[in-house]
Amino acid sequence: MRFTDEHRAIRDTTARFIETEINPHAAEWEKAGIFPAHEVFRKLGELGLLGISKPVEYGGMGLDYSYQVVFAEELGRIAGGGVGMGIGVQVDMATPALAKFGSDALRREFLVPAISGESVASIAVSEPGAGSDVASITTRAEKSGDDYVINGTKMWITNSTQADFLCLLANTGDGPAHLNKSLIIVPTKTPGISFSARLDKLGMRSSDTAQIFLEDVRVPQRNRIGEEGQGFTYQMLQFQEERLFAAVSGLKGLERCIQLTIDYTRERKAFGQSILDNQVVHFRLAELQAEIEALRALAYDAVEGYIHGEDVTMKASMAKLKAGRLAREVTDACLQYWGGMGFMWDNPIARAYRDTRLLSIGGGADEVMLSIICKLMNILPGRKKRA
Ligand SMILES: Cc1cc2nc3c(=O)[nH]c(=O)nc-3n(C[C@H](O)[C@H](O)[C@H](O)COP(=O)(O)OP(=O)(O)OC[C@H]3O[C@@H](n4cnc5c(N)ncnc54)[C@H](O)[C@@H]3O)c2cc1C
Repeated sequence: MRFTDEHRAIRDTTARFIETEINPHAAEWEKAGIFPAHEVFRKLGELGLLGISKPVEYGGMGLDYSYQVVFAEELGRIAGGGVGMGIGVQVDMATPALAKFGSDALRREFLVPAISGESVASIAVSEPGAGSDVASITTRAEKSGDDYVINGTKMWITNSTQADFLCLLANTGDGPAHLNKSLIIVPTKTPGISFSARLDKLGMRSSDTAQIFLEDVRVPQRNRIGEEGQGFTYQMLQFQEERLFAAVSGLKGLERCIQLTIDYTRERKAFGQSILDNQVVHFRLAELQAEIEALRALAYDAVEGYIHGEDVTMKASMAKLKAGRLAREVTDACLQYWGGMGFMWDNPIARAYRDTRLLSIGGGADEVMLSIICKLMNILPGRKKRA
């Protein structure tokens, strides 16, 4: 990918914003278990950074996805994964389907404030009984006059305690599991919605995550994104951006882990020499740096295809898989070379070790990525059809 001055401007603006508006507060938000999403998003919105690849007529910049990738990559500079994840949900998980398939009225009502940063969005797909197996969700939206009445429970929803609206996947029919679902925009102030307490997580601690209960929640049918029954397909398309975002947003964070480890091990002495001077250490760090560069190349290649309209399901799934696996390798190796200091809770490597563990689970676990790759390689054994 060849970057232009416009790419570089987005990169610099994002990096400056992170250094001045996010990193000085990262430790405090980590302890609080939440970051002030409205405040941060409003400032990002003023800089135009929440609508980089969104249509101009709704307040976006109308740029192709390569610009969004530059933004996602810079988010890796944040000293902690939770804030970047919250931003990622807003721009690449809860709003792509709305931007592409929502009606004009729906986009004016919900996309415009999501781009300006006045509202906070969540993507509500997972349920207590259905995470990897998205097709088996049980939340239902029944028609009643001009409305849908929604009942169900959503689990592990990022940004949810601060969200103004959910982009929610629900069953709206009884047909085959891939053709009976719709994505519906649900304002969180609607009567019948309640939230659990914030969930206590291993990592991503500055991001708020909760369970959402929907009991006879009534929203107009015009809040449905696109065609009825196409929600599963729209969600799968939306996952492409989510997976590309996940693959690139971790790169700089991993490079930061390597750099911090170089700095630390260069100073730290054992057996008469610096830890870094042991060949096993500097060779390992060089090898991991090479792996990061290889992942970057794969992710950029997938993005290049995506902006030219190719189906990049295979490459995006591979990039997401590699990102999860590599994050575990890099943070584990770096933590090892920090010794006891790496085991301290507030150590930056320990934080990255906890935060990045989610990459292999959230937004499609490693095994789900492998199943997709196998399917496209035509080596996935057939499954019994769902009832
Ligand atoms: C911090 C956090 C934030 C999240 N944010 C959101 C959000 O904003 N919105 C949302 O909708 N969801 C969110 N999720 C949910 C997340 O997407 C799911 O946890 C994820 O999809 C995995 O689903 P599950 O936890 O039900 O795991 P399960 O489906 O129960 O799977 C458990 C494990 O089984 C293995 N497995 C699964 N399928 C296969 C297979 N076919 N073959 C072999 N092994 C397999 C995998 O190792 C997997 O990790 C979040 C989760 C976390 C932890």
